Amino acid sequence: MTGRLGGEFCLVCGADPPLFGDRMCETCMRARTTLAKVPENVPWVRCARCGIVEIDGKWEHTTDNEVWDELLHRNLVVHERAEAIELGMESKTVSDRHTLLYIQIEGVIDNLLFQEEHTMRARMANGVCLTCTRRAGNYFEATVQLRSSARRLTEDEFTRLRKTLDDVLEKLSDDPMFFITSEGVVTGGYDVVLGSKGLARAWGRHLISEYGGMVIETNSTVGRKDGVDVTRLTLLYRKPGYEIGDVIAWRGHTWRPSSWTKDGAIMERVDRRERTGATWRDLEQAKVLAQMHELVRVDFITEDASVGEFLDPSNWKMESVRLPYDHETGRKGLLVRKDDAWLALPQFAIDLPESSEES
Ligand SMILES: [Zn+2]
Ligand SMILES: [Zn+2]
Repeated sequence: MTGRLGGEFCLVCGADPPLFGDRMCETCMRARTTLAKVPENVPWVRCARCGIVEIDGKWEHTTDNEVWDELLHRNLVVHERAEAIELGMESKTVSDRHTLLYIQIEGVIDNLLFQEEHTMRARMANGVCLTCTRRAGNYFEATVQLRSSARRLTEDEFTRLRKTLDDVLEKLSDDPMFFITSEGVVTGGYDVVLGSKGLARAWGRHLISEYGGMVIETNSTVGRKDGVDVTRLTLLYRKPGYEIGDVIAWRGHTWRPSSWTKDGAIMERVDRRERTGATWRDLEQAKVLAQMHELVRVDFITEDASVGEFLDPSNWKMESVRLPYDHETGRKGLLVRKDDAWLALPQFAIDLPESSEES
């Protein structure tokens, strides 16, 4: 009792030190201090069609746990002097729309450790996101036409081309307009109708970098809205139907592409030593006579300066063929069937590994 004279004491109850905060004993300090406050109910919005969630006015793909974390951080108010805060949360689904969030929080205020538990009810409301609104209206800005040049592509090849759009979508940001309005097989190709011109162009660039070829863009005006022309983009992509080593009819002769260039291919003429660079546009009129895997390798049984004889592997009859300009005695022949006759091909570096493997 003597110590109290002139000493410090709790301003609320008069108790002896130790005192905390604004000169209160621990009991009074705890009775008058709250570490954290949360609202009882917090609303959030999910798109009823696609399930994405609105967070701070932006629609995002997110998991439930991310939604709860977001709601907690948006709504939790912590005492201004609190330090060393630790948070824990558990969720319990009450109904389709209601989830209870149990929050455990601890923190230090004026050297006193506070531990509290709170409950917050997350209430989901249905909405419709921008993408779904546009989709429901069959909104579109661009059509990408997948076609080929020089050879009809197989269904598998079109499927592979179409799949690259999924890769592009995955890499791009969550733009709400990056969606597919409709798609399907058409004569000679495959069409994909898209919500965004930017997406169509990004895909076009991706196709060119993966498969070569070129894109032709056509813009058409379909009307006016708010004083601005509304335009639609058609993007025609032709995948070159040939690969290095294929045999191609082009400009009245037979050629083989031997390597790619930035905007086309190096073409090697088959009937004489001649090489030329060709752009994709130059090659639009090319036709594939045979793909590389269709070429036939034979051993010559007899050969003179210009003609070699061999057994036709399809019927084992003796046939003869004019030897290519680069023929070396004893080398296997690389043949293609053209206009019901055999044609022997000059050979490139890419023809060699396979032939050395075989011999
Ligand atoms: Zn007190
Ligand atoms: Zn949606």
